[in-house]
Amino acid sequence: MSLVTSISLTSSPAGLASSWHDNAACRGLAAEIFFPQDEEGVDAARSVCGECPVREDCLEYSLAVREKDGVWGGFTERERRSLIRRRRRAAAKVRAAIAVS
Ligand code: SF4
Repeated sequence: MSLVTSISLTSSPAGLASSWHDNAACRGLAAEIFFPQDEEGVDAARSVCGECPVREDCLEYSLAVREKDGVWGGFTERERRSLIRRRRRAAAKVRAAIAVS
């Protein structure tokens, strides 16, 4: 089962208007690849994501649904949490700059 198949089982992307997952590089691959247990496994998942034409869509989807597990868009859980924090800080700076001006 591929990740794009598994997300339809676990996260209901079928309800999404977008069909980005139709072009996923992981389509047809085992979902287990994207739920690695060690760094070697993370590297294997990233190697697939690195060639994926819908990587950005995948990452944004995982952020939007707060996907907690697995490698999405080449990002691990920890990396996604870090990205969310960086985006929040950047948004706060913009809001502060607007409030001052
Ligand atoms: S970025 Fe990775 S996990 Fe996401 S759809 Fe592409 S291959 Fe699958």
